[in-house]
Amino acid sequence: MIPLLTRESTARTRLHAPTLQTLPAAVAENLRRVQEAVSVPIMAVVKADGYGHGAATVAQAAVDAGAEWLGVTEVAEAVALRDAGLTVPILSWLNPSGVDAAAAAAHRIDIAVGSPGELRELIADADEPVRVHLHLDTGMARGGCPLEEWPELFRLARAGRGRVEVVGVMGHLPRADEGDPVANTAAVLRMRQGRDAVLRAGLGPVIVHLAATAGALTDPATHFGMVRIGAGLVGIDPSERTALTGAARWTAPVVHSAFAPASTAVGYGGTHHTEVDTHLCVVGVGYADGIPRELRPGAGVEIGGTRHPIVGRVSMDQIVVDTGSAAFPRGTVATVFGPEGGAVPSVQEWARWADSIPHTVVTGIGPRVQRSVA
Ligand SMILES: *Cc1c(COP(=O)(O)O)cnc(C)c1O
Repeated sequence: MIPLLTRESTARTRLHAPTLQTLPAAVAENLRRVQEAVSVPIMAVVKADGYGHGAATVAQAAVDAGAEWLGVTEVAEAVALRDAGLTVPILSWLNPSGVDAAAAAAHRIDIAVGSPGELRELIADADEPVRVHLHLDTGMARGGCPLEEWPELFRLARAGRGRVEVVGVMGHLPRADEGDPVANTAAVLRMRQGRDAVLRAGLGPVIVHLAATAGALTDPATHFGMVRIGAGLVGIDPSERTALTGAARWTAPVVHSAFAPASTAVGYGGTHHTEVDTHLCVVGVGYADGIPRELRPGAGVEIGGTRHPIVGRVSMDQIVVDTGSAAFPRGTVATVFGPEGGAVPSVQEWARWADSIPHTVVTGIGPRVQRSVA
């Protein structure tokens, strides 16, 4: 075996750390693409740390580009956005550890309420008025108040006036990613029914919102008074109808590089054997960093302007890449994914290789991958 690096190359250099670089210009560009499709205000959804891209970074880029609202899962995320200087209305809708009513009131964080029980708790906890969006089940059976309980929800909302102020009504589309308006018809009808019932109950005026990225991009009937855009901001259209721009670049260093003769067994279990004499690079990211362990054939990374295949098992901290006749020295920067296309894989390609969706790729990147902003 011929060592690629000779003893002379002993200069001490720090390698490029594995880094996810968020691209705010791409977020702004994606927001513009959504603005072309809708004529209502946009809520920028930055849950799960802005789909892994940095909640405050994505939020600021989206607001600078015209988003008028922000959306998150829980109040603590919303407070962090307030601390980062964001002043637009923020809605939080899941609050898995319960609602901190005092924080919500103090920071003007809107709370989505999906059942009479949740509303009762909030009314009991609120010393100062909390802004509320009534979350109605529009056909998903995953949160949201079922039709049978609407009258009780509305009754409580009226009775709780002074402690809660109803400012919105929301639903969620279960099948918008199909990109076919027919798949949304039942939910749109249910949303209209909900809006009318809320107004009849004397709880208006309210802002009505149903659609997320896919609905916003494919079905105007779902737009109502606002759309909630999360995936779209970071370049993911769940309906795959609109080409958006990837909003991050994930790079990692080659940490080891060597010639490998034909028939070399690679990685745990020796599941791959080199077919011909070749060069192998070890790149310093693995499944602990969010590289999916189960990958279909074809998965690769960009090194030196060319796509090279990942071979053998994905390890916890590293992957092996077959670079053929090309030898890349330790320290060469590999691109795991980025917006460029061509040799640089996209998040969508990673999702296909992992038999998953792009969302899991971007939200699965581990904490030791450094974050930066372009
Ligand atoms: C995540 C989420 C969104 C954003 O959905 P995308 O498809 O990522 O745009 C909107 N609304 C609710 C309730 C959500 O949970």
